[in-house]
Amino acid sequence: MTFALPELDFKADALEPFMDQQTVEIHHGKHHAGYTAKMNAALEEAGLTEVNLETEVFPQVSNMPKAIAINAGQYWNHSFFWKSLAPTGQEASEKVSQALTASFGGYDGFVSEFTKAASSVFGSGWAWLCQRQDGSLTIVETFNHENPLMENIAAEHGQVTPLLVIDVWEHAYYLKYQNRRPEFIEAFLQIVDWEEVERRMS
Ligand code: MN
Repeated sequence: MTFALPELDFKADALEPFMDQQTVEIHHGKHHAGYTAKMNAALEEAGLTEVNLETEVFPQVSNMPKAIAINAGQYWNHSFFWKSLAPTGQEASEKVSQALTASFGGYDGFVSEFTKAASSVFGSGWAWLCQRQDGSLTIVETFNHENPLMENIAAEHGQVTPLLVIDVWEHAYYLKYQNRRPEFIEAFLQIVDWEEVERRMS
């Protein structure tokens, strides 16, 4: 195996009631595990078992076999998603708060922009909080398996560092929230790991 499915930093029921245990178990143990296995098989077939996804796959993803692009994107996005979550409600640190204020007018402004973006992804995808090269923050929407490190997204938004992501594929919320994606987004914002967001900031 080239890449392992990352273990969760919390128990599957630790995000209740915002994210239910069954969803976490299926999302991680079936969906994420499935993308991991398919990515490893595709990398092996292409002789790319030693590849670095962030520096060697995503920046030139258009040259990659479709099975690598899709499954490596999903593998990496889900790994990043789980790391974005923490069981206990945290508040944004001073450094993060200042950055949110500078770019969105404050935490509420960020919530409004982030919720708008995550709600408006049509079909399956992701909404990301990212940091630009100049330090300012921005929100990026991506579809399906795509992420901000991929060349086409970077061409559109510039080179950015992802700080936080919400998965808005239906599998991320349908068991508990059914068609009510806005409720899931609101719940997600209660379990953000803001310490991890700060660690990702420059
Ligand atoms: Mn997912």
